[in-house]
Amino acid sequence: MTQQNFAKLDFDLVVIGAGPGGYVAAIRAAQLGLKTACVEKRKALGGTCLNVGCIPSKALLEISHKFHDADHQFEKLGITVSKPKIDVKKLLANKNEIVTGLTSGIAGLFKKNKVTQIEGAAKFLDKNTIEITKADGSKEKISAKNFIIATGSEVTKLPGVEIDEKVIVSSTGALDLESVPQKMIVIGAGVIGLELGSVWGRFGAEIEVIEFLDKITPAMDNEVSRNFQRILEKQGFKFRLSTKVVSVKKDKKGAIVEIESVADGKRETLSVDVVLVAIGRRPNTENLGLENVGIKTNQRGFIENDHLRTSVENIFVIGDVTTGAMLAHKAEDEGVAAAEIIAGQKGHVNYDVIPNVIYTYPEIASVGKTEEELKAAGIAYKTGKFSMMANSRARATGDDQGFVKILADAKTDRILGAHIIGREAGNTIHEVVVAMEFGGSAEDIARTCHAHPTYNEAVKEAAMAVDKRQIHS
Ligand SMILES: Cc1cc2nc3c(=O)[nH]c(=O)nc-3n(C[C@H](O)[C@H](O)[C@H](O)COP(=O)(O)OP(=O)(O)OC[C@H]3O[C@@H](n4cnc5c(N)ncnc54)[C@H](O)[C@@H]3O)c2cc1C
Repeated sequence: MTQQNFAKLDFDLVVIGAGPGGYVAAIRAAQLGLKTACVEKRKALGGTCLNVGCIPSKALLEISHKFHDADHQFEKLGITVSKPKIDVKKLLANKNEIVTGLTSGIAGLFKKNKVTQIEGAAKFLDKNTIEITKADGSKEKISAKNFIIATGSEVTKLPGVEIDEKVIVSSTGALDLESVPQKMIVIGAGVIGLELGSVWGRFGAEIEVIEFLDKITPAMDNEVSRNFQRILEKQGFKFRLSTKVVSVKKDKKGAIVEIESVADGKRETLSVDVVLVAIGRRPNTENLGLENVGIKTNQRGFIENDHLRTSVENIFVIGDVTTGAMLAHKAEDEGVAAAEIIAGQKGHVNYDVIPNVIYTYPEIASVGKTEEELKAAGIAYKTGKFSMMANSRARATGDDQGFVKILADAKTDRILGAHIIGREAGNTIHEVVVAMEFGGSAEDIARTCHAHPTYNEAVKEAAMAVDKRQIHS
């Protein structure tokens, strides 16, 4: 099929993939009056995020935190309980119920907004037509004026390592372990490895993290990363940095992991019950028929975009499958922007102000530039820092690890970045996010009245500290 008569097309817009990028784009487009469909090959809507990502991992992090508190903190607080036990079956059932509740909620939102939901795997035949293969093998063709590719990402495999999701697991298997392992090796000291390592560590597993680079969470501000590593070590994490994994083989007990020091090539083998491979995620473009529409991927497999448009004018791309941070909220914002552009509005995403959160205990949250990025760019900046030890709420709740650091332009005082280690840092960061979105200065936050006692008072004090006028330290 070449040129189509638009009047005969089935839809104004078809979104491929119902993750946080795709489902949000479909709903926004329908709100704007576009006749919209969303095609998803999984049975449940919500993509990686709801099914095997953000939501199940946060459910397990919360439960494991409660378990750990009951086991290690209650006594100190004057609460005596018998030693808590973990029922993994019940734990996973609870997590699955949370996931099902949310994924079916999206089906409800589709109905409410009149988005047509289509189950099956989509493949481009030409720039106005896709073929959808259903679970039973049957095929259907649908046509549309516009498409949004929102096919997300999948786990990056380690060459030569076969993931069975029981002993050698990806993040997906690590969300469904049938019992608490005695020892777990996590390959990769990124966000996903450290969050899932925290879950099983809190339930009692010995966690050892193998990382090729010389720091954990490499994109993070160095000071935060160093402190974060120390905090995790105090919780029992062991780290082997600058270390390469040579091989992972299953044996009768579990698995044997061979590692090699990057510095001197010295090799060692480790025997463990479970190995979590968490070295990253790669864009999902297989069997999409990109060759039929002439869309190419870059060297790393991502579909590049110009204001969310691919090289084909009526085909847009959002979320993990395109360049930029692989985060659910980035995908969502791109979904809204793409839908608005297609509807003739001026959709926009501010990539300079996308928060990043690690949901460990304490949480780590950042937005904007790190000190290293500012130095490399030759931007003169001032730093304001405030310790959680001096925050009264953190002292009251016993969550006084961490700090808030605000980086502001040396001349204009405009906020350039913020980095927080602390309980609920993922919530606390948002006042800085909003301030940055409005081009705010450190003084703007410093002069804003903050409720007492709150963790956010530490943000205010850090903002005051930019001008060396903090009160409580
Ligand atoms: C363990 C884990 C924890 C995470 N935690 C967080 C977190 O706390 N916060 C955060 O912001 N991010 C987190 N992420 C990342 C987040 O899940 C992703 O950034 C987000 O899901 C990307 O959204 P997306 O819509 O681009 O793609 P996805 O969510 O991957 O959805 C893409 C969908 O497209 C479907 N699809 C693919 N190809 C086709 C096709 N040909 N036809 C039809 N359908 C297709 C897939 O089945 C999938 O459902 C986490 C990820 C993992 C793995």
